[in-house]
Amino acid sequence: MKPGDATPARGPRITGETLPDGVPVRRCAERDLARIEAALARMSHGRYGFCLTCDSQIGLPRLEADPAEALCADCAETVPA
Ligand SMILES: [Zn+2]
Repeated sequence: MKPGDATPARGPRITGETLPDGVPVRRCAERDLARIEAALARMSHGRYGFCLTCDSQIGLPRLEADPAEALCADCAETVPA
């Protein structure tokens, strides 16, 4: 290991990187941020934890797996990811 190796790579290395499914990391992060902001907005309106499509309660296991989840299990199956 050379002396400079411990320095973490900065910005440009992240930009342009892609996830295994080909989605650019940056786009993925922006999408996650948008989902989280939407979840926070639902919280402030007292709608957090309710499905956007059918208005039924989203199961706790789903919210624990993804706190920004917006659909119940039934609706998530019918909507393409
Ligand atoms: Zn639903």
